[in-house]
Formats: sequence, structure tokens, C-alpha cells
Amino acid sequence: MNYTQILNEIYQEIKPYSNVGEPASYIPELQKVNPDSYGICLRTIRGAEYVMGDSDERFSIQSISKVFSLAMGFCLEGETLWKRIGVEPSGSAFNSVIQLEIEKGIPRNPLINAGALVVADILLSHLEHPEEEYLQFVRQLCGGNKQIKYNESMAVSEREHGYLNAAIANMLKYHSNIQNDIERVLRFYFRQCSLGMSCRELAQAFIPFSNHTQPFKFDKITLTASQVKRINAIMQTCGFYDEAGEFSYRVGLPGKSGVGGGIAAICPRKYSVAVWSPRLNKKGNSVMGMKALELLTTKTEVSIF
Ligand code: GLU
Repeated sequence: MNYTQILNEIYQEIKPYSNVGEPASYIPELQKVNPDSYGICLRTIRGAEYVMGDSDERFSIQSISKVFSLAMGFCLEGETLWKRIGVEPSGSAFNSVIQLEIEKGIPRNPLINAGALVVADILLSHLEHPEEEYLQFVRQLCGGNKQIKYNESMAVSEREHGYLNAAIANMLKYHSNIQNDIERVLRFYFRQCSLGMSCRELAQAFIPFSNHTQPFKFDKITLTASQVKRINAIMQTCGFYDEAGEFSYRVGLPGKSGVGGGIAAICPRKYSVAVWSPRLNKKGNSVMGMKALELLTTKTEVSIF
């Protein structure tokens, strides 16, 4: 497959969308990025990399971080995780509080904010140094890359404006689905979201999810092939807020987006791909990112379907 040519063609075809959408504004720090950035990295399971544009620029991965915390939480907690969180698409916004109230504090899935806050609570209960161990795990997914760091000003900026996430955390606590102190859970959660990674780094970090018949083993964090398969299934059905169906329809790959404008996706046993463009559509997904991945699976004629 000539991925270099395909990535070039994609770029030419998505250029008309370069002014569509706006970067997220509810986290002030996110507004500091150049809205016209665009980067992509496709990495095959054999380690070949194909890049274009700002593929080495780090950006705030935001909700993509929920895949890494889920991997840790699933390893540490096992099946009992699913007593506290569901595996159904939410069909509502990533930060919806209404659904959580109706469903009595059990989040629909681990990739919406409510679910990720419960996962954060689980990590806090299991780990002695949660922030360090989370960072260590992500670095290991990237071959021990120590350049990957939290962006403290991003985390602080989000906490200062994080009223809705605080409301969700309170609702969870009210329903006894958070065991630790709420402020502590929020602090961990905002930090994990603030992590800065480039498309190249994200593509590398997602290879173990793509190549899931190989052992998933990173120090303490090990998952069986079946557990990785299930995480991929959750990405497929729940990875794009209330646009998961649309992404599945248009792209046909499991993946996860973040309000920083990044999307990471996998083509099982073939490649992982990360794309970044900060302008978002109304549902919070990167406009150019979604279009790029739609063109990728159309041009390669390969998706999970
Ligand atoms: N930190 C963001 C929030 O909690 C993440 C949202 C996202 O990327 O979907 O609102």
C-alpha cells in the first residue's frame, strides 16, 4: 500500500475544510494553539511510519487519555470494573450530567467524562503514585519516551473552568460511585487529559491495541488479547461522543477523539493512525481529522467492515 501517496492525496482533498469549525473554547488554554495546525501519522504493526504536516508537534490529548486509563483500570480491577461502568454508547454529549442522574450514577461507558472519572477513582484506589504511574505507562507505550509530560497550565486552566466535570463528580459521589476525595479525582483526571503528545507518539502508543494478538505487557500493566479486544470494541461504539455512529459509518475503525483536536484510531493487525487538527465540529470532533480518516479507509478500501 502506498501510504505516502495516500496521505498526500488526503491532504489535498481535505484542504477545503481548513476553515471549518472552531477550537474548543471552554478550556481557555486550548485556545492558545494554532487552529490551522494539521498533522497525521500512520504506523504499521511492523513499525513503518508515514507522516505529514505537524506530526511532531505535541498537543493536548484530552479524552484520548481515557483509553490509556481504561487499559490500566481494566488490568487493575478486572471484570468488577463493569459493576461501576457500562459499555453502551451514550448517545449524548461527553459531559452530559442528565443521563447520569437518570441512570443513578452508573456511567454509560468509560470513554465519556463520567466513566473516565470512575476509572480515575479506581486508579487512585489501586496505585500509590497515580500520576507518576499513569505517565510511566503512557511513556512505556511509546518505547520509554520521557519527553511525554503533563501540561500543568492546561490542567489548572481546566480545573478553573471545570464546573460541569465537578458536577458529574459530585453526582457520582452522591451515588457512591466515587470512593476517593472528589477534588483528588478531578485533579488526576484533568492531569491525564492535559498530557501533551504528538501524532507520531500517539500512533506508537496505539500499536499495542492494534496488534492485540501480541502480549500487552508494560511492567505492572498487562492485558489479555481478549481484554484488548474489548477495549477496541468500546472505542468502536463509544469513542466519539454522540457521534460514535457517524464515525463508525464514515470511517469504520475503532478510535478515540479529544477536544484538543486529536483522533487516534486503529486498523486491527494492520496499523494505528493519529491525526490532529484543532478545529472541531459541533459534537466536539476534529473536522479535518474525521474527514482524513474517512478518506483513508475509503482510499485503502480497508476498514474493520
Ligand atoms: N478534559 C476534557 C473534559 O473533561 C476532555 C473532553 C474531551 O476531550 O472530550 O471536558
